[in-house]
Amino acid sequence: MRIEENRELAPLTTFGVGGPARWFVKAAEEADVIEAVEWAHRQRASLFILGGGSNLLVSDDGFDGLVLQIALKGIRGRLTPDSANCLYEVGAGEDWDAFVQRTVEENCAGIECLAGIPGTVGGTPVQNVGAYGEEVSSTIQSVRAYDTDRKQIVELGAGECGFSYRSSRFNSSDRGRFVVLSVVYRLARGGSPTLKYADLQRVFTPGYVPSLNEVAGAVRQIRQSKGMLLVEGDPDCRSAGSFFKNPIISREIAAAISQTAGSEPPRFSAGADLPEKVKLPAAWLIEQAGFARGYRLGRAGISSKHTLALVNLGGARASEIVALANEIRSAVSSKFSVELEMEPVMLGF
Ligand SMILES: Cc1cc2nc3c(=O)[nH]c(=O)nc-3n(C[C@H](O)[C@H](O)[C@H](O)COP(=O)(O)OP(=O)(O)OC[C@H]3O[C@@H](n4cnc5c(N)ncnc54)[C@H](O)[C@@H]3O)c2cc1C
Repeated sequence: MRIEENRELAPLTTFGVGGPARWFVKAAEEADVIEAVEWAHRQRASLFILGGGSNLLVSDDGFDGLVLQIALKGIRGRLTPDSANCLYEVGAGEDWDAFVQRTVEENCAGIECLAGIPGTVGGTPVQNVGAYGEEVSSTIQSVRAYDTDRKQIVELGAGECGFSYRSSRFNSSDRGRFVVLSVVYRLARGGSPTLKYADLQRVFTPGYVPSLNEVAGAVRQIRQSKGMLLVEGDPDCRSAGSFFKNPIISREIAAAISQTAGSEPPRFSAGADLPEKVKLPAAWLIEQAGFARGYRLGRAGISSKHTLALVNLGGARASEIVALANEIRSAVSSKFSVELEMEPVMLGF
């Protein structure tokens, strides 16, 4: 295990901003993970687990601790005894989108709408990654992780992960406790694609049943048009994807918002367990509060393709991104009394 000092973190993130890590190490084996965690404990150093850096904003001062980058590889696929499902056990350091592509080519359904999301497999259970009507919580069977409190490897069933909208125990009650080593996904062999979102339905002629591969391709195309796909040279993708979560609010507050705005916001279900609430698009609230695509504050801006993505326009400091985020939050709060929650993980602030 080779621990580097003062490693720049900006190039390891999609935002491309922020200062260095005091110490940095990459783990290609589970034993490296355990050794690195023990090293941090011995040094009494803070520990941060890094995947693909696609949901991360690093402060300008960097991180005064050990950054452990997960590079655990390997994909093992097998069928369930009744052959109805494919179980994929995937190393946390595998590229998520490449894994999605493999599953659609093998005709296994359940994550085709999550195509084009950057980052690693290990990052997906952390914020229960979701898009276009799918969330990983519906297909994750179990998560194998190193429990840094108990100092042992554990196997957590999906029911023990505390999944909800963009949340799990890994980014809430047990933040920083578990290092995800691998994830088992249970996918439907020969299953039909999920076509819940109008954006996606519009791509296909009514009555036509697209293949999983066609749906994954369509999702990537829609993402690209919104600056939500990492494309070499596209300045709109120097971001962390959506910067704010879509707020989940009561129907009464939603009605008050319509009245203030003088128009009806688009509404989505907040999930079967929250029938009394609705999910509103944060992008709509931001636009109604006076911000348009392409808005700039110093070297930080709102993507020219999607109001929800804050972008580094080139050489931005983390403080400029935060200043823009705060300006947007306070405008939405004073107009609608809704507090927007940031989605990316803030490191070193
Ligand atoms: C252009 C773009 C589009 C995006 N679109 C979406 C979208 O549609 N839906 C969505 O949900 N997200 C989206 N995201 C956000 C991001 O891609 C996902 O959250 C992704 O899963 C993060 O994975 P990562 O490996 O990059 O994690 P990182 O950014 O490296 O880390 C994020 C968090 O996960 C933790 N973590 C990472 N790996 C591990 C591990 N092995 N063990 C324990 N903790 C770990 C980190 O400590 C950190 O707290 C988008 C981002 C971008 C840049």
